[in-house]
Amino acid sequence: MCGIVGYVGRREAAALVLEALKRLEYRGYDSAGLAVNSGGRLLVEKTAGKISALETRLDGRLPKGHVALAHTRWATHGVPNEINAHPHTDCGGTIAVVHNGIIENWAPLRAALVKRGHKFRSETDTEVLAHLIEEAYGPAVPLETAVAWALKRVEGTYGISVLSTREPEKIVAARHGSPLLVGLGDGEYFIASDASAVLQHTRSVVYLDDDEIAVLSPDGYRVTDLETGRIEKPVSRVDWDLSSVEKGGFRHFMLKEIMEQPESIRNALRGRLLEDEGNAKLGGLNLTDEELLSFNRVVLTACGTSWHSALIGEYMLEELARIPTEVEYASEFRYRNPIVDEHTLVIGISQSGETADTLSALREAKRRGARTIGIVNVVGSTIAREVDGGIYIHAGPEIGVASTKAFSCQVVALGLLTLHLGRLRSLSVLQGREVVRALNRLPEQALDVLARASEVEKLVSVFEGTSNALYLGRGYNFPVALEGALKLKEISYIHAEGYPAAEMKHGPIALIDDSMPVVFIAPRDAVYQKIVSNIQEVKARRGRVIAVVTEGDDQIAGLADHLITIPETIDPFTPVLSVIPLQLLAYYIAVHRGKNVDQPRNLAKSVTVE
Ligand code: GLU
Repeated sequence: MCGIVGYVGRREAAALVLEALKRLEYRGYDSAGLAVNSGGRLLVEKTAGKISALETRLDGRLPKGHVALAHTRWATHGVPNEINAHPHTDCGGTIAVVHNGIIENWAPLRAALVKRGHKFRSETDTEVLAHLIEEAYGPAVPLETAVAWALKRVEGTYGISVLSTREPEKIVAARHGSPLLVGLGDGEYFIASDASAVLQHTRSVVYLDDDEIAVLSPDGYRVTDLETGRIEKPVSRVDWDLSSVEKGGFRHFMLKEIMEQPESIRNALRGRLLEDEGNAKLGGLNLTDEELLSFNRVVLTACGTSWHSALIGEYMLEELARIPTEVEYASEFRYRNPIVDEHTLVIGISQSGETADTLSALREAKRRGARTIGIVNVVGSTIAREVDGGIYIHAGPEIGVASTKAFSCQVVALGLLTLHLGRLRSLSVLQGREVVRALNRLPEQALDVLARASEVEKLVSVFEGTSNALYLGRGYNFPVALEGALKLKEISYIHAEGYPAAEMKHGPIALIDDSMPVVFIAPRDAVYQKIVSNIQEVKARRGRVIAVVTEGDDQIAGLADHLITIPETIDPFTPVLSVIPLQLLAYYIAVHRGKNVDQPRNLAKSVTVE
């Protein structure tokens, strides 16, 4: 998920790759490392924290050598510390590997390698690659053949680069689902996960495709398939300038992260769906089926955006898994006298895994005998360490203060948990398969919604000069109304309220006049006809209606002033799609008003205070 840079050539490689790696810092990371092939020896330096910490550690004494790899890690397996940082080496210290992505079958591979005598040092999925390559790297075998052999045995995603002391002039790189490119210089070659890392040195690049291997040496490079058959690749010219490179070419982190949702949802689902069994596999729960069946109640606790995803989780868990579920603001839960015992499953949701209120709520629940689960993004965070088990959402680093991709991935994670609990209790295999199918389609459907971003941008004019807005939804999309209103408040500073649409007539209806934008989230679901009536009530009072509806909806089309469409999915997953236009809407309005979208006033990304 983070950064890779490699160099072969005639220059001193260590300083060069560290400098290039800094161009990838914008992606966010938690640790950094370097490997240099230095006079037949592999010198590896790693650290938790920033590249600058690595430089401080080296104190100007960079290892000498003309072939090097550097990596920024964003932990998915194993806490962010020095040992888990990349590069990882084999038992013999011959090979160094850096890796972006997730090796899904790392656990059985690791067990088999340990049986054959391999000694593992880290907790990462990545380290299996170093030992697997070592297995195949016999005396007459070239490094690329050993790498190809290893890659045929792994499932998951990877962009990898490998060094070996036995072939000191060489870098072997490969990709499957995680970007990599070769930068072409004069008597020097680069490997990078992102063009921004090499632009200072070259604009000629070869983008690798899935299941391709690149072999780089100072004399040239070649690209092959996993059977080592040569592939002719076109050379592309990168013509963006360095200033647009930051944030992956997007104007703000928030937009970048909104746009990343198809990929982050795919990562949240990766390796977790069992299509035939209509079930989800959640390795980190640490709870047996018997324990999962022993719970008679679930409490979801969270703050802010995560609290909204918790509300969606409540609806899912009650409808599909038939478990009584409550949602509590973590800040309230921790100071009440909550009723929880060993039959209660308490689930804390937090992007950072450091949210102080959520952490305290989980501690309080634990003290009272409850079992606790965390749904968090940051691996090795305090919540992840303290709970009994958990689900990482694998959304990748989220830097924009207003949470976007973490929200959709939290909903997906709750969907996976619901499916798993549901299959233990009330869902048939056929119902389970329907849920699996719907989850599988979400990444493509999210992409469809994002393709209509320019239509959402046009709606900025509806909010011209307005200082209030109302967001209304029902059922699964009531929490989406809350989330849409929160996004608008957070970054544009327009006062916005989210309400269950039917509650409108008990108060907020008094606010409606012809200057009030009212955003309805109204996909075709179980409460569709009900919300159509609510739209009519707003139109009767001359409110300006923007409606998020399912494709092909002509009933609301005849009522609303503006329409945004989303693809059809099963009711519990409509929020994953319906929230996207609301994130975009808030984003475009805030940009139009000249606000600092990525760092809105008074807000912090990770709220580690009460
Ligand atoms: N899964 C690997 C790890 O946790 C790689 C993470 C990354 O892409 O940075 O070490």
